[in-house]
Parts: sequence; C-alpha cells; structure tokens
Amino acid sequence: MEYPCRFQNPSATTQEIIPHRVFAPLCLKGACQETLLQLVPPCLSAAHRVLGTHPFSRLDILIVPGNFPSLGMASPHIIFLSQSVLTGNSHLCGTRLCHEIAHAWFGLAIGARDWTEEWLSEGFATHLEDVFWAKAQQLDPHEAQEQQELKACLRWCRLQDEVRNSPEEMQVLRALPSDIFLVSLARKKLTQGRFQDQILHLTF
Ligand SMILES: [Zn+2]
Repeated sequence: MEYPCRFQNPSATTQEIIPHRVFAPLCLKGACQETLLQLVPPCLSAAHRVLGTHPFSRLDILIVPGNFPSLGMASPHIIFLSQSVLTGNSHLCGTRLCHEIAHAWFGLAIGARDWTEEWLSEGFATHLEDVFWAKAQQLDPHEAQEQQELKACLRWCRLQDEVRNSPEEMQVLRALPSDIFLVSLARKKLTQGRFQDQILHLTF
C-alpha cells in the first residue's frame, strides 16, 4: 500500500503531535488513562523535535495481550503495545512507546530490503528510544547521558547472554506468521469501525 509523503507538506512539518487514539480492552482503560495516554503527547513531541516531520498523519495504539511475542510492534498508522508495559512505573511504557514511534522513520518510512537487514532499523530505533525518552522526561544533558550509558551497558550484557544461550538459528531476526496475521486483522477492525471514544473494547 502507498502512503503519501508528508516531508514536503508545509502544514505537516510544524505538527508536533499527530492525532492519536488508544484501543484497549475495557479492563485496561484505567491503566491506559493513567499511564499511556499521558505519555503519548510528550513522546510524539520529543520525536518531532529530534527528527522533524512525522512520516504518518495519525497514530492508533492497540493494546495486545501479554502473550504477544514482543513488547511492541510498529506498522503504518498503528503501534501494537503489549499490556505488560502498562504495569509498574511509566519508564517501561515510555521507552517502548518511543521505540515504536522511532520505527515510523526507521523501519517504515525507510525500511530494510529483507529480514537480513532488519537489525539496522532495530539499531536506529533502539538508539532513538533513549534520545526521545530523555527529551520526553525533560532530562538535562548530563542525566540523559548517564541514563543512556547505563542502558547501553545493560543491553550489552543481555546481548552477550542471549548469544551465549541461544542456538545459532535463533539468533537471526525474522517475521513470525502470527505477527503478519495480527497486523492485517487489526487493520481491518480499525478501518471498518466507527469509534466515538478513545478507548474501546476489542476481542482478541
Ligand atoms: Zn524495534
């Protein structure tokens, strides 16, 4: 599917926060209102301050069950977030949201040719999640650098553990058939429905 390019559109260049909606089961309405909905505007605004024009004109965030294979996934106009990020403090939710927002530029506007190059998109999104999140939290440069270095150290330890403990064929990024099916199903539901509230119930 083709999406119109917004980078040459003068009204899009100044739009810090694109229109957004959150879709979640009713039982998570409170958690979404307390955590996620507060974080979307500062994270979108931080992304705009760093990278400029948002590549897509609107954003729907769909909360998926905790057994979803990852904490998040980005697709044009849709971010899938695991309900697991809604628990605890806002740090996990904020960083994951920033990561998926970054994929609008790296992974969607510009994408890898195939899964062998997907690590490039992941690398940019992982770096930018720290940059966006530091801005969204309004950290001073010294605090931002400290947080970034700590996270880099934790990621390095985790990567070493994963490489050590995973068989070689599991160390390659690839699409799961269940992810592809879920994206097409969610697209259908979101484009066919008429939603009056920001939150609604979806049956998984
Ligand atoms: Zn990613």
